Amino acid sequence: MHAQWLDAFDDFRDQLVQNTRDLVRIPSTNTPPTGAEKACQDHIAALLRDASLEVDYYFLTEVEGLEAHPSYWPGRDYGRRPNVNGVIRGQGGGRSLLLTGHIDTVPLASMDRWQHDPFGAEVEAGRLYGLGAGDMKGGVAIALTVAQAIQRLGIKLEGDLLVESAVDEEFGGVNGTLAGRLRGHNADAAVILEPTNLEVYPAARGARIINLEMTNAAQVVGGGGRYPGLRAPALPAPTAQGVRRPTPAARHRARPLQSLREPPCLCGSPRSRPGSGATRSRLPRPAACCSRSTGR
Ligand SMILES: [Zn+2]
Repeated sequence: MHAQWLDAFDDFRDQLVQNTRDLVRIPSTNTPPTGAEKACQDHIAALLRDASLEVDYYFLTEVEGLEAHPSYWPGRDYGRRPNVNGVIRGQGGGRSLLLTGHIDTVPLASMDRWQHDPFGAEVEAGRLYGLGAGDMKGGVAIALTVAQAIQRLGIKLEGDLLVESAVDEEFGGVNGTLAGRLRGHNADAAVILEPTNLEVYPAARGARIINLEMTNAAQVVGGGGRYPGLRAPALPAPTAQGVRRPTPAARHRARPLQSLREPPCLCGSPRSRPGSGATRSRLPRPAACCSRSTGR
């Protein structure tokens, strides 16, 4: 990329903030099996069309082979949950790049701990506050703003640039992103614009969801503190093993991939307020953020 273009991108800083604020102000909470992403996706599709991208706005129910795919997470309702993909066609001779993110957020668990309107997108002392501002409407806004900037600056690309906003990522969902791949919106490389404290993670650990059915165990409770005073029993060994530190051999294999070397931190970011959302991020985090590492 020419230096002149990098300088020109600086002029889109305000646009990036505005795009993020606009997305935060449109609720898109994920409440399995349904989700309220449609209004946000309509907004994104309109912006991409305004920027003269080729837009594919499609419902997951239209994607051939999705439900039969081995990674498909069953039991979801996609009647009103569209994915959006926009393309800037390259002129040829270059490799393609996909910028992707999910537009759903966790539900609003409680208003008690919010000091700002979760859908107000207020900016205070250089920080933007709102539900999903970091995870990951800010990331989706980056993809949008890059596309808008490229088009407005008249930059001609050699390869295709794809911009994707997927539904249903929270709660372990993979279906929105999987739908994009099966729909054929694929590229030579992809950048997933999740928040990583501006660290580049060349790989991610993935996740495993385990459904446990427990019988004859008095005082078995679900999460969320719905039954104060009751405690969940200790998890059986296979489950505990799933979050054990990696073996030395595994650490060696992961050496070039720093993000895989340590077990995931399950704590919230120090900037997130506990209880402000229904789940906490499972992204690997730098050691400094983690209560395990800091001994708090
Ligand atoms: Zn996320």
